[in-house]
Amino acid sequence: MKAICHCDQCSGTLAQKAGRRLREAELRLRRRFLEDLRGWRRGNQDEWILAAHSLLVEAEAPPELIPDPRRVRVTSLAKERCFGCVDRQKNIWIDLSSVFYQRAKEGDLLPLASLLLHEAYHVQHGPDEPGAYAQQLNFVKRAGADDALITFVEHAARRHV
Ligand SMILES: [Zn+2]
Repeated sequence: MKAICHCDQCSGTLAQKAGRRLREAELRLRRRFLEDLRGWRRGNQDEWILAAHSLLVEAEAPPELIPDPRRVRVTSLAKERCFGCVDRQKNIWIDLSSVFYQRAKEGDLLPLASLLLHEAYHVQHGPDEPGAYAQQLNFVKRAGADDALITFVEHAARRHV
């Protein structure tokens, strides 16, 4: 027996479907336009930040080092020359062109999750780099990171002693 669906999506004519897709595309464009205008996107509206946040929760990172995605902002930090930073209002900023964010888009969420954890440490403890890197390293090792990521974090840590 053939199942018949009466939902809007299946039952519309081709023209109606095309119209719907066009409206959806316009909405997406408008949303993107507003984001660009503002220059940044909130973490709770960014699928990679949300996914990395879920990984932190699932991997049982220390709760105080799991930032609220609403306090995360994604933007270009090319001028600031950093992957992530914390502002005076204790918002975390993540660079969308960084290797951490790009890896997440390619399906490897661990680097971005570890960066969020690193920045969350700064929110709690201020500019203590050795402490932040120690927590980050601890997390990536426990979460089963590959040698490349562990080495990367170790090198970064050594630059900040
Ligand atoms: Zn740091």
